[in-house]
Amino acid sequence: QRQSEAVKYDWSKFSPLNPPPKSTERANACFVILVRNSDIHAMRATLRQLEDRFNRHYNYPYVFLNNDPFSDEFKRLTTAIVSGNTTYGLIPREHWGYPSWISQQKAAETRVNMKHVIYGGSESYRHMCRYESGFFFRHPLMEQYEYYWRVEPGVEFSCDVQYDPFMMMQQRNLKYGFTITLHEYKATIPTLWKTTEQFMKEHPDLVAPSNTLEWVKSKDGKDYNGCHFWSNFEIGSLRWLRSKQYLTYFDYLDRSGGFFYERWGDAPVHSLAVAMFLKKEEVHWFEDIGYFHGPFYNCPNPKELNQFCHCNPKDSLHLSSYSCTKQWNALPASA
Ligand code: GDP
Ligand code: MN
Repeated sequence: QRQSEAVKYDWSKFSPLNPPPKSTERANACFVILVRNSDIHAMRATLRQLEDRFNRHYNYPYVFLNNDPFSDEFKRLTTAIVSGNTTYGLIPREHWGYPSWISQQKAAETRVNMKHVIYGGSESYRHMCRYESGFFFRHPLMEQYEYYWRVEPGVEFSCDVQYDPFMMMQQRNLKYGFTITLHEYKATIPTLWKTTEQFMKEHPDLVAPSNTLEWVKSKDGKDYNGCHFWSNFEIGSLRWLRSKQYLTYFDYLDRSGGFFYERWGDAPVHSLAVAMFLKKEEVHWFEDIGYFHGPFYNCPNPKELNQFCHCNPKDSLHLSSYSCTKQWNALPASA
C-alpha cells in the first residue's frame, strides 16, 4: 500500500497553532445541508465563506437535502459557487412525515398548546428536528460517506481553517465535533430526560462504561441540566450515527412520540447520545473554527489565530454563562 507522502505528523499532539503540513490525502467526507429553495441567497453567502475560509483548498463534496425538489435555479447558483462536487437529494416521504403510531390530532393539539414556546406551533420544524435526529445520515446520497460537516444557510465562517478537520477526526478517531454549546429551553423537552433514563434502564449494555453523562446531569443528578452541543454546526462520524447504539436510542425516542407531542430538538437528542455513548476523548471542541449562527459566535482568542478571522473574540459564547463549554472542558479524561 502506498504511504502518504506527507511528513509524519503526530495528530495526538494536534494544535491549531501547529497544524499538519498540507497533504493531498482526503477523508471520505462531505458537507451536508438541509435547506429550502427560498434560502438560496443566505445559502450562497455561507458557501462563499466556507469556500474562501476552507474548502477551495480541499474541494470536499456537498450534499444538499430538501423535502421539496430543488429548483434548477438553486442547483445552478450553488454549483457555480463551490469547488466541490454537488448532489441534490429529495427526502423520502417515510423520513419526513408522521409515523403510523403518532396521532396527528394529538400532535395538532400540542402545537396549539405550545404556540408560545419557541417553534412550539410549527409542524415543519418538528419534521426537521426528527429528520436531523434520525435520518439525514441514512439518505441514499449520504451512504458512501464516513464523515459529515453540517452547514446551514446564513451561518458565517469567520476564520481561515488551516488544516483538514475531517482528517483530524479520522486520525484521532473522533466521533463528534462542535463549536458552540448552550442550555436548552426546558419547555421544548418536558419528558426527554425521563425517556432517556428509561432507555438506559432497558438497554444498560448500550451505554458506554466511560461516558460523559456527568455533563448533562443536574447537580442532584436527577434531571437534565439542558447542556447541549448546538447542532447547526457539527463535524461528526456517520458510522457512529449509524451504530446500533445510536439507532436504538433514536427509535426509542421516536416511538415515545416526543418529536410531535413535545418539540424535541435534534441538538439535545444528539447531545444526550454523545453523553451516553462517547467518552470525552472522542469529542472535540473546534475552538479555532470561527463560527456565527445568529445570535451566537464561536471566536478564537489567541492572536496567532484571531489574526486570520473577522470576529471579535470577546463575543465568543464560551465566555458566557449561556454556554456549557467550560463544564465540558472541566470533565475528567476517561481512564
Ligand atoms: P433554527 O436554527 O433552530 O432556528 O432552525 P432553522 O430554521 O435554521 O432550521 C434548521 C435547518 O433546517 C436549516 O438548515 C434549515 O435550512 C433547515 N430547515 C428548517 N425547516 C426546513 C424545511 O421545512 N424544509 C427544508 N428543506 N429545510 C428546513
Ligand atoms: Mn439555524
